[in-house]
Amino acid sequence: MASPALLMRVVASAYSVAEKAATIVRNVMATGDLGIVEKELSSDEVSEELIEDGHCEEILKKACPAQYSGIKEEELVIWVDPLDGTKEYTEGLLDHVTVLIGIAYGGKAIAGVINQPYYNYEAGANAVLGRTIWGVLGIGAFGFQLTEAPAGKHIVVTTRSHSSALVNDCISALNPDSVIRVGGAGNKIIQLIEGKASAYVFASPGCKKWDTCAPEAILHAVGGKITDMHGNSFQYNKEVKHMNSAGVLATLRNYDYYASRIPNTVKQSLVP
Ligand code: AMP
Ligand code: MG
Repeated sequence: MASPALLMRVVASAYSVAEKAATIVRNVMATGDLGIVEKELSSDEVSEELIEDGHCEEILKKACPAQYSGIKEEELVIWVDPLDGTKEYTEGLLDHVTVLIGIAYGGKAIAGVINQPYYNYEAGANAVLGRTIWGVLGIGAFGFQLTEAPAGKHIVVTTRSHSSALVNDCISALNPDSVIRVGGAGNKIIQLIEGKASAYVFASPGCKKWDTCAPEAILHAVGGKITDMHGNSFQYNKEVKHMNSAGVLATLRNYDYYASRIPNTVKQSLVP
């Protein structure tokens, strides 16, 4: 029988799996052995672990928007990036790294988990290392403090390791007050929801559906917006092409300000 609890169980599972993945990410770095092969868990073992995890279930039990009732298992598509910000991981910029699990229904990103395994890693020995941010469209997003970027300032966050002339031309055309260059799509959405940046601007193909699905769900759950450079929303049905070939434009607020300033030359260079 179709049940509203299904989505909630899947989100709780994604939360738990992302935490497990974060432990693996930290262990691989700690042992310096990038050749580690993890034993696969049987589906029974996985289920047990998921049910034990109570972190987000409390909230999920209380809130299940009516639009999610009737969702069937085979209608959900899950997009996973086990190590977003890989380049930065190998270069020791550890808090750029995230584990992304996005959940799509009807081609739309409706829920997501972003685990940041090295959150707080420079905050001293007593700080709790790592965090899990998650959200469901219609419920909200949790695990962080939603913060607006400074009013009146245009702070653009973009790629650190995949720049191009087009990426830089597009940013110049926006005439920002400052530019933050960091790795990872997950990390860049965190910059938006924590008020560090006002727009994520990436005028280049290269970002994939598994990079944007979880971040999109969380950003949309708090009223933000993400599209390609033409203003098209992303689709996440399982047949969709993986590449976000027309780039990424995302904001928590003031999306129209940035969208209206993307040069036509940039749009013409990026085919959806
Ligand atoms: P970045 O902002 O450079 O960290 O990119 C965000 C995500 O998109 C990461 O998962 C990258 O691997 C991916 N990505 C972006 N541009 C490229 C590219 N030119 N080639 C391969 N992957 C890319
Ligand atoms: Mg990635």
